Amino acid sequence: MQKIAIITGITGQDGAYLSQFLLGKEYKVIGLVRPNIAEDYSGFEYLKIKDNIIFKECNLLDLKSITNILKEFRPSEVYNLAAQSSVGLSFERPLETINFNILSVLNLLETIKGLDKKIKFYQASSSDMFGNIENLPVTEKSIIHPTSPYGISKATGHWMTVNYRESYGLFACCGILFNHESYLRAPNFFVKKVIKTAIEIKKGTQQELRVGDIDLRRDFGFAPDYVKAMWLMLQQDEPKDFIICSGKSISLRDIVEYVFDKLGIDKNKIVTDESFFRPNDIKNIYGNNEKAKKELGWEYEKTFFEVLDILIQEELRK
Ligand code: NAP
Repeated sequence: MQKIAIITGITGQDGAYLSQFLLGKEYKVIGLVRPNIAEDYSGFEYLKIKDNIIFKECNLLDLKSITNILKEFRPSEVYNLAAQSSVGLSFERPLETINFNILSVLNLLETIKGLDKKIKFYQASSSDMFGNIENLPVTEKSIIHPTSPYGISKATGHWMTVNYRESYGLFACCGILFNHESYLRAPNFFVKKVIKTAIEIKKGTQQELRVGDIDLRRDFGFAPDYVKAMWLMLQQDEPKDFIICSGKSISLRDIVEYVFDKLGIDKNKIVTDESFFRPNDIKNIYGNNEKAKKELGWEYEKTFFEVLDILIQEELRK
């Protein structure tokens, strides 16, 4: 029988690549979008999958709205990717970030608990839950101590998911993903912004790239490879949580300089702008992906410079 998956936040980067992956596995994919909003479907057109997905409006802050959708489609799997996902924006809009990122998770868990505990649930947790952790690499057992409203919202969604698994027996898993990038990344995120601006500088349509603290280090990977891990988690015999990462950190400065060198741009055009600095930013973080590799059979070997090559090529082609 054809499997049915519901994806929240389908219009985001991960939603588009996860849809593509699940369609390749012959799933029927239902994508939830915000009600009464002119959504941008260009990512699905880019991946040539728009006509293969059923898009449904759903207010994730409304229990009834979620219940109706789950009753209508009776999915075997729900992937919860919807979130205000920008750390920077979460400092500007903490109430909105905390309110949506927490209540949407709780509503989904409550609905599944009341309707059908056999529905498997994936929660998009984040490395931002760990804050400025001292003991690196991060593992599934590391202490959670977020340093942003976004991190706090994700930590709460994470623990609620664990709690519904432990208290009510839900098949609920958290994928603790580290930064992952792609052509479909929103333009306000660092790597996308660097590549797009560098191409504009090359064309002469922009003069400079303004950056915050580029001595920060992060563990970056490739989104199309990371979505496979989400699916793998829900195919196991037991629900568990997994770190998904590359296992290495790289500085933002290395990324900018690599892109500028590739495009032959003078590094004097990199300008530090203190308005981009965030309060209490994470200085360095990377994870350990051994559990995912061993138990899920997930594979990831790309360096981030290889990913940057793919992204620059894809951006230039457009
Ligand atoms: P994204 O591109 O920012 O997409 C976020 C999705 O959530 C979009 O579909 C967006 O809908 C939806 N959304 C945001 N606010 C909403 C609201 N108030 N009501 C309804 N829908 C709302 O994020 P992503 O990169 O695909 O990431 C997917 C998930 O993984 C997120 O939960 C993110 O926090 C988490 N995560 C991402 C990374 C990463 O590096 N990408 C790392 C760790 C965890 P609209 O299109 O309508 O705005």
